[in-house]
Amino acid sequence: MLILISDAFDPSLPGRLEKYGEVTADKNRQADAEVVLVRSKTKVTKDYIDAAPNLKLVIRGGVGLDNVDLAYAREKGIAVYNTADASTVAVAELAFAMMIALPNHLCRADSSMREGKWLKKELTRTELMGKTLTILGMGRIGTALAVRARAFGMKVLGFDPYVYFSDFAEIRTDLTEVLGEADYISLHMPLLPDTKGMINKKTLTGFKDGAYLINAGRGKCVVEEDVAESLKSGKLGGFATDVWYSDPPPKECPLFDAPNCIFAPHIGASTKENMLRIGTMIDGIIGEYVTRK
Ligand code: NAD
Repeated sequence: MLILISDAFDPSLPGRLEKYGEVTADKNRQADAEVVLVRSKTKVTKDYIDAAPNLKLVIRGGVGLDNVDLAYAREKGIAVYNTADASTVAVAELAFAMMIALPNHLCRADSSMREGKWLKKELTRTELMGKTLTILGMGRIGTALAVRARAFGMKVLGFDPYVYFSDFAEIRTDLTEVLGEADYISLHMPLLPDTKGMINKKTLTGFKDGAYLINAGRGKCVVEEDVAESLKSGKLGGFATDVWYSDPPPKECPLFDAPNCIFAPHIGASTKENMLRIGTMIDGIIGEYVTRK
């Protein structure tokens, strides 16, 4: 059995999987691979699947399966798994780090000091305590963020068409209302037809003046041009994002000349601990697959 590790995983992974067969990172061997391991970089499209006639199992290390053509994989009898639980803490901590960094101007404080500027008067901070956080998508990551926000004394509102109760957030059903009440809005829903472009010119108009937006979900859940415009007008107080329309984004991305932003190169899942957890889950999935064969 050939296992192709197509994207970046913990360096210990090949050694852990050798007990199941040959392990390679050589993408030219796609045609011989029975198992392919991907994160978000490799796109398992119809063409990819057609070029891998021996493929039986695809494992996406991480949550979102939007880089896998699930319908075509099913048609071809290829099993697709993700490691959904592994990344929860890693992503929630990044979203929380962004929520702390934005109102504390940490990036600007650092870069201005390096430029020889002393912005002690200009960099007025605000606290999270007593502020309202609205979380769109109250699944694993949204809930983990809610737990952390509660610990910081925030009021937490949740919006999720499929979640009716949470121990850690007040679940509301009116999107306009939850957006309008929030000092912070954090996006944790998957990319679906009804979440694509959910934060746009119209929804941004309903935000509280100076609200902060955080996106560690999927880039296309926001309309970048509209977010950039809202930042430039001062309506949106700040925007932090880990996710983009494409990885990496093009140089002309409209966000790059917008003020009060913090950018990260899709590192939400990239903690050492998570990479090890993902490895353990992949080991378990392949172990079960081999047993069933
Ligand atoms: P999850 O499935 O546990 O939670 C997603 C929640 O979104 C679900 O409760 C679902 O009901 C809800 N939802 C669906 N449609 C919605 C809508 N229209 N409005 C509001 N909520 C809606 O998934 P999770 O593990 O919490 O991950 C959430 C997302 O985070 C993933 O789908 C992925 O896109 C993203 N993610 C990003 C990174 C990163 O590196 N930044 C890493 C992992 C996951």
